[in-house]
Amino acid sequence: MEFKAKNRIYLDNAATTRMREEVLEEMLPFFRESYANPSAIYGFAGEAKRAVRLARERVGALIGAKPTEIYFTGGGTESDNWALRGVAETYADKGRHIIVSAIEHHAVLHTCRYLEKQGYTVTCLPVEDDGKVLPETLQKAMRPDTILVSVMAANNEIGTIEPLAKLSAIAHEQGALFHTDAVQAYGHIPLHVEKMGIDLLSASGHKFGGPKGVGILYCRENLRLVPLLYGGAQEKGRRAGTLNVPGIVGFGRAAALAEETLQERMERESALRDHLIGRVLAEIPHACLNGAAHDRLPGNAHFCFADIEGESLLILLDQRGICASGGSACSTGATEPSHVLLAIGLPHELARGSLRLTLSAENTEAELDETVEVLKGSVERMREMKKGL
Ligand SMILES: *Cc1c(COP(=O)(O)O)cnc(C)c1O
Repeated sequence: MEFKAKNRIYLDNAATTRMREEVLEEMLPFFRESYANPSAIYGFAGEAKRAVRLARERVGALIGAKPTEIYFTGGGTESDNWALRGVAETYADKGRHIIVSAIEHHAVLHTCRYLEKQGYTVTCLPVEDDGKVLPETLQKAMRPDTILVSVMAANNEIGTIEPLAKLSAIAHEQGALFHTDAVQAYGHIPLHVEKMGIDLLSASGHKFGGPKGVGILYCRENLRLVPLLYGGAQEKGRRAGTLNVPGIVGFGRAAALAEETLQERMERESALRDHLIGRVLAEIPHACLNGAAHDRLPGNAHFCFADIEGESLLILLDQRGICASGGSACSTGATEPSHVLLAIGLPHELARGSLRLTLSAENTEAELDETVEVLKGSVERMREMKKGL
């Protein structure tokens, strides 16, 4: 089977990634021969049990966590829901104030909206023009009844990497817990839960070469946290449901691969990214880069083009086999510009002309050069048509 169709240039790796071949290989036996429920007593369950144990070790090792601190979930969305709702319910007697950034993923923001209906107060922190949360901004928002601060490790639209260590220190000074949605960062940039002062961390398999429908929540040792899902006693009674053994095995293998190749992938991706950004800004008039210049995910390029309607641009790119996105996959089809672009202060008009190109180490410079050529032509054509109207 041909995995990489000849005429397709895939530049939407923030939406999902191609599962690595090695990951699939390691998963297959757990669909076929070794299908036992790992919670069973008999010997047949031993292989599945051992595979889950190995996965837990690999997954923790990538972020400096113990295997006992890793809980497998049904994806990044579930992990985010669990972290926020779990902390809110567990520590309600301590306080009912939660702080998040304005550019969080909807898995965090919409959970906050739900918590507000339950009587919690949520402060949404403004961000700087480059998408960063200033430590001073968090400092000012902290209250005696703040129980949780949740700021993402890296943004899924504009790729900005947040100063987690500084932010978590402020949360801890005031006795609050610190959660980070690390779905875009895990397996892509170095993360260390101890050094960064992280109490809870969400990650997702399909965003870094693993399978879809499996995630993790890291929960620091000895931290109380009520479950989100009730039922069986899996995951030490904290997350019910028969373990998704193939998915967990795949997540584990992807984590091990990520650890082996992190440095070289980061270097390759950022070189490709900088080549792309350099050419777009130099060759397309009235283009600007969104997000941070330096603290930026290695694979993220995010642009705005004046006088361009983003959706139409995506269609033109698609006609030439280029898979790109206007913002996050989740907000595609929405008429409102993304909350992230509004939060960094882009005017509505400009936010509508946005384009996210997220690459992986599998992309080539030739693919990016072709993309720039198509982009140049498309932007020019669209602007001429607009003028002619
Ligand atoms: C994709 C994504 C999620 C959701 O993860 P799923 O595994 O797809 O549910 C959450 N947060 C961020 C930042 C993401 O990019």
